[in-house]
Amino acid sequence: MLKRTFEGWTDQNIALLRKLVEDGASATEAGIRLGCSRSAAMGKASRLGLVFHSKGRGHPASTKIRAPKIKVPETETVSAEIVSVPVPLGIPLEALTETTCRWPLGHPTEETFGFCGNDSPINSPYCNFHHRIAYTPRNTSAHGGKSV
Ligand SMILES: [Zn+2]
Repeated sequence: MLKRTFEGWTDQNIALLRKLVEDGASATEAGIRLGCSRSAAMGKASRLGLVFHSKGRGHPASTKIRAPKIKVPETETVSAEIVSVPVPLGIPLEALTETTCRWPLGHPTEETFGFCGNDSPINSPYCNFHHRIAYTPRNTSAHGGKSV
């Protein structure tokens, strides 16, 4: 992939940025086209009052990135060990498919933001491990387990 050298926010680059946003490009894509970092593209866009679509063209259903509320009871570490902890791959939003875990890692505004990316069952947006975290009922200790 050709990477330009970023020359700063010249009129030309600003015009290109506007066009990319209007075309529904992601911040990552704009950064690549402009030759600047993703966060630079995002920052400049917000100063111009432009809003990046968090996903490229189409798929409006998946534009919302929301970290599920996590409630992990501290005494309930025993049963959690049944599911092995996956190594998060930190894949970008663009790389998500129906069978990749879309558990967010970090914060969407961070350069390192990505998704778990491990295999997920077809009926769940998360891998087995994150599915458990996302859907574990608050009162798990009542379920035959003993809290120490
Ligand atoms: Zn996961």
